[in-house]
Amino acid sequence: VLPRRLDEVVRLLTRLPGVGEKTAMRYALRLVGDPTLARDLGQHLQQLPDRVRPCERCCNLAEIADDGRFLCTVCLDTRRDLKVLCVVAKVQDLMAIERSGAHRGRYFVLGRLLSPLDGVGPEELPLGALLRRIEEDEAEEIIVATPPSVDGEATALLVAREVAKLSIRVSRIASGVPHGGDLEFADQVTLGRAIDGRRQFD
Ligand SMILES: [Zn+2]
Repeated sequence: VLPRRLDEVVRLLTRLPGVGEKTAMRYALRLVGDPTLARDLGQHLQQLPDRVRPCERCCNLAEIADDGRFLCTVCLDTRRDLKVLCVVAKVQDLMAIERSGAHRGRYFVLGRLLSPLDGVGPEELPLGALLRRIEEDEAEEIIVATPPSVDGEATALLVAREVAKLSIRVSRIASGVPHGGDLEFADQVTLGRAIDGRRQFD
């Protein structure tokens, strides 16, 4: 019953996380009813893959610069403390820590967690890039802010072991964020305390 093109839009929207058939249909009808929104959205989506990519240095999201490079706003910020590097699982966790204001250094985004059950082993994590980042910044402390889940703890241990090869202090954020909880949804005060109360790995 739907025009083929509209049907296609609905189908594509359902591929987004948390968007079911009904929501997709609501979005699609809204876009049909608002041509300006549809055109603006289309134009920005078209440019997204070429203009926004992981930062060359830390894998946070970055917009392309005039020289064609992808460096995020954190890496471009010269007031940042290069001595402290915070390792997170995903970009949303970086954003949550930024909101807490508890970390003034730079970041490294792993992109995924170690997960033996899902077949994600150490070789799937960008550990080489992390070590290069640490050496280039001459960082003196690494804060591992992976979530307090089984996979998050396993990843933290792996990162600590790798970084130990460089003889650099590695600390783990304190508990406070509920076990199995998501950093992304922790409130700013809790997250700030977890970072302030970090403990060094043995
Ligand atoms: Zn960056």
